[in-house]
Amino acid sequence: MATEETLVLIKPDGNKRRLTGLVIDRLDASGLELVAAKMVSVSESLAKEHYALLSDKPFFPNLIRYIRGEFHGFKDHRILALVYRGENAIKKTREVTGATNPEQAAPGTIRGSFGRITTDGQFENVIHASGDAADAAREVALWFKPEEILPRG
Ligand code: UDP
Ligand code: MG
Repeated sequence: MATEETLVLIKPDGNKRRLTGLVIDRLDASGLELVAAKMVSVSESLAKEHYALLSDKPFFPNLIRYIRGEFHGFKDHRILALVYRGENAIKKTREVTGATNPEQAAPGTIRGSFGRITTDGQFENVIHASGDAADAAREVALWFKPEEILPRG
């Protein structure tokens, strides 16, 4: 298995609920290496491009509002974007992240520990993690310039 890179976003609920350190702690424990990190003000076009494959889903409009912090009071649309690198990084990160629906996420995963569904049905699942190799390559390149990522040692 070759070394992979994968994109992680701490979503606005994670930021608002002060879960950033806990999420990074879980990812650290997976043994992967953090090779890029920055706060990003997420434009509508970046949000829509990131989630382009879901644009026909009924939850898409709320997903764009969610990722831009509009449900959590972030008028500057801030989000923490990270790149993790390592053997099997994409699958390992997904395992630590847990299932999309926080109610179905295994206990001890990030979403199982910290995610919730709001009373109006919005998933608040704390973290984005790239789903597969094609998504990871596309998403890392969408959020980061090559020079913002530490070179492979
Ligand atoms: N999502 C949602 N309702 C759904 C499915 C997805 O609100 O029924 C949101 C949720 O925030 C999820 C994101 O859309 O994390 C992206 O969906 P995807 O199926 O790619 O899940 P993920 O890869 O994040 O586990
Ligand atoms: Mg996905």
